[in-house]
Amino acid sequence: MSANASKINLLGLSPDKLEAFFEELGEKRFRASQVLKWIHQMGVSDFQQMTNISKGLRNKLEEIAEVRAPEVIQQWDSKDGTRKFLIRVSGDNAIETVFIPERDRGTLCVSSQVGCSLDCSFCATGKQGFNRDLSAAEIIGQVWLAAKSFGQLSENGPRKVTNVVMMGMGEPLLNFDNVVDSMTLMMHDNCYGLSKRRVTLSTSGVVPALDKLGQYTDACLAISLHAPNDELRNELVPLNKKYPIAMLLDSAKRYIDGLPDQRRKLTIEYTLIDQVNDRDEHAQQLTDLLKDIPVKINLIPFNPFGLSNYKRVSNTRLRRFQQILIDAGYTTTIRTTRGDDIDAACGQLAGQVNDRTRRSERYKIDMAALSSSQADVIPVKAIQ
Ligand code: SF4
Repeated sequence: MSANASKINLLGLSPDKLEAFFEELGEKRFRASQVLKWIHQMGVSDFQQMTNISKGLRNKLEEIAEVRAPEVIQQWDSKDGTRKFLIRVSGDNAIETVFIPERDRGTLCVSSQVGCSLDCSFCATGKQGFNRDLSAAEIIGQVWLAAKSFGQLSENGPRKVTNVVMMGMGEPLLNFDNVVDSMTLMMHDNCYGLSKRRVTLSTSGVVPALDKLGQYTDACLAISLHAPNDELRNELVPLNKKYPIAMLLDSAKRYIDGLPDQRRKLTIEYTLIDQVNDRDEHAQQLTDLLKDIPVKINLIPFNPFGLSNYKRVSNTRLRRFQQILIDAGYTTTIRTTRGDDIDAACGQLAGQVNDRTRRSERYKIDMAALSSSQADVIPVKAIQ
């Protein structure tokens, strides 16, 4: 589908915005429900196929609007079933989206920005610099494309995408409005109908945005913590210098306390890096830090990528760290590394970023180095 700058793209309009759009056209608001179902439940982008809408309105929509998803450039399938999509977005950029199948669920890891303006020291995305925020259409478009690729958007199609995590490229809270609109579409009954327990926003800690998040959504929340004290976190997550741990956890706790369902817990993401944040004392500090907050802890063994000197933690260390947390009473899981043969594992997403920050020059970014393993994997589909 080619971009048409003069047409409004309905793909990313939240239910409220689509209702307002139809009202402005002099139509009833319920037209929005009909169109949302066509787009997000049946995957229809051609207005003429929306047969419960009058011919006159279909023609009018064709004149002034479009349903335009970003375009899949390539996709790779990992040996373990993980699928990575490389998706073209405007400005000569490309983003990555990853689907991770498990026995009882299928999780889609969605990107929110082209690159990332933050520069976490363990993250491939951050090394590429930043170009821009994704539009709501480009964010929900990742769900639309993935669901379509699995035949989910057809009558009786398999429901493959059961969970969405906003943990791909970018910091979601720095693209607040578009991320909130997209999450609303993910959870809306006329769209993907995902429950609030199956949509998770992960943030490295943009506190002012987190403070207002509860007014707009009740999705699950994950905090990318990665360190138990400010000194270490300042090194790993530079944003911590602006919003230190205590401020971040206070804000996260307020979000969780404000949720209608009090059984929900905050997820703490902790990437374990060999000899950096993996010592017993770090685990002990973490148990103290989190003692007044309902949390579950997700340990992520660091996934090495070109340009990083960090090393993956040993399995013995990983188990030992986990045991300390479990002994202190915390539900603690270890995230199984998935899709590392196609660079789809956590912290490895790279895409193609027309960097506006010059950070990539500083790191002398070599895309081949970031995506080295892709050379060994034959794309299952290549669209140019
Ligand atoms: S970990 Fe997240 S916030 Fe940090 S640089 Fe990577 S994408 Fe950005």
